Amino acid sequence: MAINLKSDDAESPVIVWFRDDLRLSDNPALQAAAKLGRPIICVFVHDEETEGLRPLGGAARWWLHGSLRALSDALDAHGGELLIFRGAASKVIPRLATNCRAGSVLWNRRYGAAERRLDEAIKTELKAQHVEARSFNGHLLYEPWSIQKNSGGSFRVFSAFWRAAHTFGEPERPLATPSRLTFFKNKGEFKPSRVKLVELTLEPSSPDWASGLRATWQRGEARAQAQLEKFLDNDVGSYADCRDYPGRTSTSRLSPYLRFGDISARQVWHAANAAYAGSSNRDLEKFQSELGWREFSYHLLYNNPDAASRNLQPRFDTMQWRHDSTALKAWQHGKTGYPIVDAGMRELWSTGWMHNRVRMVVASFLAKHLLIDWRQGESWFWDTLVDADPANNPVSWQWVAGSGADAAPYFRIFNPVLQGQKFDADGTYVRRWVPELANIPASVIHNPWQHEAESIGRKSKCVPSYPDPIIDHDNARRRALEAYKNLA
Ligand code: FAD
Repeated sequence: MAINLKSDDAESPVIVWFRDDLRLSDNPALQAAAKLGRPIICVFVHDEETEGLRPLGGAARWWLHGSLRALSDALDAHGGELLIFRGAASKVIPRLATNCRAGSVLWNRRYGAAERRLDEAIKTELKAQHVEARSFNGHLLYEPWSIQKNSGGSFRVFSAFWRAAHTFGEPERPLATPSRLTFFKNKGEFKPSRVKLVELTLEPSSPDWASGLRATWQRGEARAQAQLEKFLDNDVGSYADCRDYPGRTSTSRLSPYLRFGDISARQVWHAANAAYAGSSNRDLEKFQSELGWREFSYHLLYNNPDAASRNLQPRFDTMQWRHDSTALKAWQHGKTGYPIVDAGMRELWSTGWMHNRVRMVVASFLAKHLLIDWRQGESWFWDTLVDADPANNPVSWQWVAGSGADAAPYFRIFNPVLQGQKFDADGTYVRRWVPELANIPASVIHNPWQHEAESIGRKSKCVPSYPDPIIDHDNARRRALEAYKNLA
C-alpha cells in the first residue's frame, strides 16, 4: 500500500533547516526546496540539549551571532524570515513539521557522530509522520565516505587521500542563489515558540570581550564573498611563497566563513580556478591542497568520531603528560618569554584567529616543550578561535602532537627562536602583537634575553616588562625526545 506523504500536497510547506550552511548561494537544501515550488520555512535551532553535541566556544558563538544576523537580513530582503528556536532539535523539528503541516524537511549534512545520530533520529521520526526528510552535501568538496582506498577502507595519509580525491575530477560547481524563493506566510495557522536572536545571548555582554573580534571581522555571506574576492585579487598569486609568513596578509582568512558556511568550499575552489582561468599553477595547487587538508580532516573525523578526545595512535595513551597549570596559563596568555609563541597566543586572544604557521609553533610548544596534553590546547583553541572547527581543530592538534594520523614525526620539535627568525625575520609580526618588544632590533627580537644593553656594556634584561623564557629550549627538547621515545 502506498504511503501518503504530505509532500504530495502542493501547498504543504518545506522546512529548510540551516546549520553550518548560513548562506543562500550554493545551498543545496535551499535550492532543492525552491525547486519543489512549495512555500518555504527557514529555520535555525540553537541546540544545547542534545547529548554529544559539543557546545560552541565563546569566539565561535560570537561568529554564529553575526552569521545568523546576516542570514536573517538576507532572507528578509527576499521576502522571507529566519525562525530561530532553542532546544533539542530532535523535538523542535518534528514538532514544527507537525504544527505547520510541513510536507518536507531539507538540510545540509554535518559529519560529527552526535550530529549524524541526531539526523538519523529526526529522519526516522519525520518518516513516521509521513514527512519527507532529505539531506545534501553543502559543506565539503567530496563526501568523506566517498574517498576510499582501492582495497577499501579509509585513508590515514594525506598525500594518498588527496591523490584518490583527484580521481573524482573537479568538485561539483557551486549553485547560484535560487532565482525564485516563495516563503510560507503564516496567517496564524500555527504559533511557533520561536526566540529572538539576541535571546540566544551568543555575543558577550558583561564583560564584553569581543571588541578585538569586531575590529577584525565582518561576518556573513556577503562579507565572505568580498573576502574571497580580495584574496583572489591581491594574494593568491603569491600564496605558495608567502603563506608561511605571519607578518604578511598572504592567506585567504576564509576559515571562519568556511566553518559556519557563510561561504562553501565549492565556491572557494571554483573561484580560485576562475582566477587562474583554468591553467594549472603552483599557487593554485597549493591553495587548493589546503582545502584538501580540510577535506582530509573531515575524512578522519568521519572515521574517528572521537578525534577531539582520543589519540588516533593508541600508543599515545600511555604518554606521561605533565600537569603544570602555571605553564599552561603562561602559554594561554602569551607570556612564555618566546616572542613568536606569545605573539601568536595574543593574536588569538585579541582577534579569535591565528596564522597557520604560528598555530603549528604554539601547538608544538605546548605539547613538546611543556609536555602538556594536546587536548588542553585543543580545548583552549576551541574556546578562543572564531574558526574553531570540529574536524580541523582536533586533527591539526593531533598532527602537531604526533598522536594523529599522518602526524609530524616525534623528533620534529620546532625551535621557537629559529621559527621566528625564519618566518618573521624582520619581527613585523612580533612587534604587532608584543608591544613590549616593539623597539628591539630585528637581529634579537626572537631571543630578546640575549640582547646586549650596549649603553652599559653588559648583558642585562633589556625589556623589564617582558618575561624570561619559562623553559630552556635545549632542556625542553631533550625532555620531550625522552618522553616521546618511551612511547615506541
Ligand atoms: P588559507 O591558507 O587561506 O587556506 C584556505 C582554507 O583551507 C582555510 O580557510 C581552511 O578552511 C583550509 N585549511 C588551510 N590550512 C588547513 C589545515 N592545515 N588543515 C585543515 N584545513 C586547512 N583550521 C580551522 O579552520 N579551524 C580550526 O579550528 C583549526 N585549528 C587548528 C589548530 C592547529 C593546532 C593547527 C596547526 C591548525 C589549525 N587549523 C584550523 C588549520 C589552519 O591553521 C587554518 O585553517 C588556517 O590558518 C586558516 O587561515 P586561512 O583561512 O587564511 O587559510
